[in-house]
Amino acid sequence: MNIIEKTYKWNGKLSNRKSTNRIILHHAESKSCTADDIHSWHLENGWAGIGYHFFVRKDGSIYRGRPEGVVGSHAKGSNSDSIGICFEGSYMTETMNQTQINAGRELVTYLKNKYGISKVQKHKDVCSTNCPGTNFPFNEIVNGTVATAPTPTPTPVAKPATSGKATGTYEVTASDLSVRTGPGTNYRRKRHDELTADGKKHDKDKDGCLERGTRVTVYEWKNGWARTPSGWLSGDYLRKV
Ligand SMILES: [Zn+2]
Repeated sequence: MNIIEKTYKWNGKLSNRKSTNRIILHHAESKSCTADDIHSWHLENGWAGIGYHFFVRKDGSIYRGRPEGVVGSHAKGSNSDSIGICFEGSYMTETMNQTQINAGRELVTYLKNKYGISKVQKHKDVCSTNCPGTNFPFNEIVNGTVATAPTPTPTPVAKPATSGKATGTYEVTASDLSVRTGPGTNYRRKRHDELTADGKKHDKDKDGCLERGTRVTVYEWKNGWARTPSGWLSGDYLRKV
């Protein structure tokens, strides 16, 4: 997590906070603003300067506000033992984007661990205000685990049970192609009388082999061998037509 450090000109002296028991969350009630904007607004209020300790922007960047160890000006009556975090945006009407939620969650988790605390409140839990807005994703920021970008589900590649070649009609390219009882030369060659009627027509010399140019229908491929009605043929001598 990266905290962007800022140098502010403070109007007056900041006092150290004696204890840190909780984190209080706010929205800026402004759709677009910077940490410097808030600093100047709070100076206009007559405060020492930006009253929050952290400011989380919509792009997920986290800015330092008031030094972490000093008393903030963000929740009247609750500043002496709390860290204030403000989120850019106006969450009575807007919806927070996931990048900002993730950054807020990371910051809250970091601070909880750092101070060994678990109490996180909304500004409206301690003051009469609607801050940080009814749309503020409090539970996602406070109770969720840090989400990472969703991993796209890989598109399953249909893996054919065959060698990957297409089934369909092929033509024999060898002068006399052996027909075997299985997919490989370790299977015996078929005899002429074991071929289909159509296969026999293309085995004029009756040696059990198919002539060049014979059209065969391939149902299945296995280890480079094609299963046809007559039997298994070596794919090396077949051409798709
Ligand atoms: Zn607030």
